[in-house]
Amino acid sequence: MEKPPLWSGPKTLLKSETLYQYVLDTTVYPREPDCLKELRNITANVQRSSMAVPPDEALFLSMLLKLMNAKNTMEIGVYTGYSLLNTALAIPDDGKILAIDINRETYKVGLPVIEKARVAHKIEFREGPALTILEQLLTEEKYRGLFDFVFVDADKANNLNYHKRVMELVRVGGVIAYDNSLYGGFVTAPPDEPLFRGDTDSRDVIVEQNKVLAADPQIEVCQLPIADGLTLCRRLY
Ligand code: SAH
Ligand code: CA
Repeated sequence: MEKPPLWSGPKTLLKSETLYQYVLDTTVYPREPDCLKELRNITANVQRSSMAVPPDEALFLSMLLKLMNAKNTMEIGVYTGYSLLNTALAIPDDGKILAIDINRETYKVGLPVIEKARVAHKIEFREGPALTILEQLLTEEKYRGLFDFVFVDADKANNLNYHKRVMELVRVGGVIAYDNSLYGGFVTAPPDEPLFRGDTDSRDVIVEQNKVLAADPQIEVCQLPIADGLTLCRRLY
């Protein structure tokens, strides 16, 4: 008998595409703001468009940001700015997002939509390797403990390096969210299982990350099976 694929699709870990489509059709698409729809459609024509968070995850993040009254946020990994625009819409008018990416070109793709939505003033974009930029932030006292929320969605191999630094930048009680933390379900695949995406290295990186975060006493941690997996960490001290 043929083995069922471990990965049910690019955007969900739900047990069927039909179930995911149901969620999208009933709750998500009717509630996705027009500007996000527009950016999602533009992004669909950009290389590696599946990197953007899916709209169901965006709705969740939007509600979380509002429940937390998040005002100062950080985004590591911007791409065309779908999750960035989602955050910009969720925080108050005087809220701030420090957005980091090594590639300004993809950010420029989404910028006109962000400007049209009148939220560009909330965004400070910094171009460069995230590790270098985090190190720079740590040299300035004003950034320590400033951030209510940090979304980490860049090069996964650096996540634990980011974690160490971001823990000093997020306030006590603030949240760090790591995207793609179930890696298409491959975190439990046997070592010799052929992977549908990426390589074994990336999978191993996520497995290690989940192990380290689960054992970190400085955070409360929760693994959400939304989209490609989302780990929420709340700084305790
Ligand atoms: N959060 C975005 C998707 C980000 S995709 C969304 O949901 O719409 C990952 C991004 O990380 C890419 O744009 C890539 O350029 C960026 N990236 C990769 N390595 C990086 C690094 N070392 N420092 C900063 N950004 C990096
Ligand atoms: Ca992602």
